[in-house]
Amino acid sequence: MAAPLRCRHIEGLHPKEPRTPDGCEECLASGDRWVHLRLCLTCGHVGCCDESPNRHATKHFHATQHPIIRSFEPDDEWGYCYVDDVGFEPMPTFGLKIFAHR
Ligand SMILES: [Zn+2]
Ligand SMILES: [Zn+2]
Ligand SMILES: [Zn+2]
Repeated sequence: MAAPLRCRHIEGLHPKEPRTPDGCEECLASGDRWVHLRLCLTCGHVGCCDESPNRHATKHFHATQHPIIRSFEPDDEWGYCYVDDVGFEPMPTFGLKIFAHR
């Protein structure tokens, strides 16, 4: 049974192109490393996941309250809303080209 859509943030979402398709915006700036990448669908911020030392995707949410991220890994199709703690699988791509580094 498909999970009911409990998140209203995804409606009317107009995702932005990734600002730093080469990797986590803050890690690229500081020369740090990351494990996986997450794309903020509100503003196109690319941040690193919670297994990464700097957790910039989650920090980005706390700083901006942008609710919805999507995995920025080539083989991942899921998305997540921080506010509702709701996951999407697969996450619509909204016609965006989703790709990670390289
Ligand atoms: Zn939501
Ligand atoms: Zn980072
Ligand atoms: Zn954002």
